[in-house]
Amino acid sequence: MNGYGGSILRVNLTTGQITKQPTPPELGRDFIGGRGFGVYFLFKEVPKGADPLGPENKLIISSGPFSGMLIPGAGKCDWTTKSPLTGGYADASMGGHFTAEMKYAGIDTIILEGASPKPVYLFIDDQKIQLVDASPLWGKGALAVEKELKDRYGEEYQIAAIGPGGENLVLYACINHDYGRQAGRGGVGAVMGSKKVKAIVLHGTQSVPVVDLKGYRKAGMALYLACKESEGLAEWTRYGTTIVTNWCDEVGALPTRNFSAGSFEGGPNIYGQTMRKEIVITDKGCFGCPSPCGKYSSMKRYNTMVEGPEYETIGMIGSNLGIADIQAVAEANRLCDDLGIDTISAGGCIAWAMECYAKGILTRVDTDGLELKFGNIEATFEAIHKIAHREGKLGNLLAEGTKRAANKIGQGSEKFAIQVKGMEQSAYATHNATAMLLAYMTCDVGAHHNRSWAITYDLQVGRDKVVPEKVARIIWLQNFRPMFDVLGSCRLQWVELGIDRDLYLPALEAITGIHRTWEDLEAVGDRIWNLTRLFWARENEGFGREWDLPSPRFYEEPPQTGATAGQITTFQDVQRLLDMYYEQRGWDNNGLPTPTTLEKLGITAIAV
Ligand code: SF4
Repeated sequence: MNGYGGSILRVNLTTGQITKQPTPPELGRDFIGGRGFGVYFLFKEVPKGADPLGPENKLIISSGPFSGMLIPGAGKCDWTTKSPLTGGYADASMGGHFTAEMKYAGIDTIILEGASPKPVYLFIDDQKIQLVDASPLWGKGALAVEKELKDRYGEEYQIAAIGPGGENLVLYACINHDYGRQAGRGGVGAVMGSKKVKAIVLHGTQSVPVVDLKGYRKAGMALYLACKESEGLAEWTRYGTTIVTNWCDEVGALPTRNFSAGSFEGGPNIYGQTMRKEIVITDKGCFGCPSPCGKYSSMKRYNTMVEGPEYETIGMIGSNLGIADIQAVAEANRLCDDLGIDTISAGGCIAWAMECYAKGILTRVDTDGLELKFGNIEATFEAIHKIAHREGKLGNLLAEGTKRAANKIGQGSEKFAIQVKGMEQSAYATHNATAMLLAYMTCDVGAHHNRSWAITYDLQVGRDKVVPEKVARIIWLQNFRPMFDVLGSCRLQWVELGIDRDLYLPALEAITGIHRTWEDLEAVGDRIWNLTRLFWARENEGFGREWDLPSPRFYEEPPQTGATAGQITTFQDVQRLLDMYYEQRGWDNNGLPTPTTLEKLGITAIAV
């Protein structure tokens, strides 16, 4: 298959059996790669009702036809599983250099199944593939493990590893790679930990076949030139995602003290400009990236370094915890990376606990003695440690995520658990931003921003408007944006540098030999979106409309301060958004795809 590594690697951790099979051409035709392959294998192979942390669940790592090619940002792969955090569909996109080596080793998809009786790491060096005893690595931090394995094998080997968070089955444990890239959300690291896989070590030397080498070079060059000539390149490269922090603060979208407001009085201390001036020492990019958004930071106070923080971490661990100190945020980022927990969910959980503490719902007895006040930096560091090790009452409570923690504690704390479908909302406050609110409500992994990032669109068209055009925009973004995760390249060159998306099409055709338009690709995106919805419904009895509701904070409690003071979306508007969304998606009033919709998308056979 042109543009593909050519094989699916299946690793049964229970038996130790490792097999390879060719990637079926029809899979490439219908699902293309990356997230598409992940959804397909998850739906087909994970049995209904599987325990997310049991051997029946699978962890599927998949690349796309752009992965590892000379296409801007072609270092993306997807990690797909049944989420232990939400009980539904999860995939996490990871950048860096892992996916390139995977393709060069001739592999499109790695399927981890079963569970090993003892800690192992998967070692892949072209045709040499084996499970190696990882007992000496168990208990170590993900960053330390990456260094140890690189020292053992060489810098050209790419490593993905879990930390103690994954080993201890923290429900939002992540997988680390390249000293700062993560497959972050939904608990993919806990699934890897449940299989007792500490790391994957990868190296490949094979070439990837392409149909039209000259056309591929020409199309790739056109994309790189467009990036180089982009007016946004210098600013983006200087600040990366932190470029939006001050804007979010100004417009009331910066999560502040558990999303009780959208503007932070200490905001300037954590803006991208402050970070660049005070702690950034250099830029860092993924494979083939002409616009590196990664920032290496040095935290002199702690004598440490980290790749980051990026905007989401600044929002969730900075303003959302009331911390106006960029060095402290960066240090918390480093702790989360090494311990292997998702910074967004960790920030969401600690913020919920801080609000509980402020309201007297949690006391020092419940926090194991921590004074868990908003703004308390040392308590934040300690809480991160406790979560990753499931230590004490607090660590065990928060390792379960806000939804379960709030259900356990009760006393009204469910209302300020800021999550959808069990996933903590990422860093955009949505009190009066109806498109972004709908994006969170309907995102297919829970309240995550990367499927449809619409906060700027809200401001362009009127943030409180509830109109069919907004809903159509969200659906278009949900079908279109994740196609970058399917193809295996970064979307940020399109989002931030304004690259014409049509420039990608000649490259795809030259590589795979298949002519596709964006309408064709969006139809694949629509098919994938509906399949993920079916997965949720299959795995959760009673799944439907109620699951799409946001935290009541966004329709009951207008912020008291900041740019959105006094502003709120009504519950009626929340329901109207869902009505319009379901209708435009071709779903019934409970939010389930109708038989007609499934037939139109050609997924009835897969769904049966
Ligand atoms: Fe990676 Fe950032 Fe470049 Fe995207 S823009 S490829 S995330 S470094």
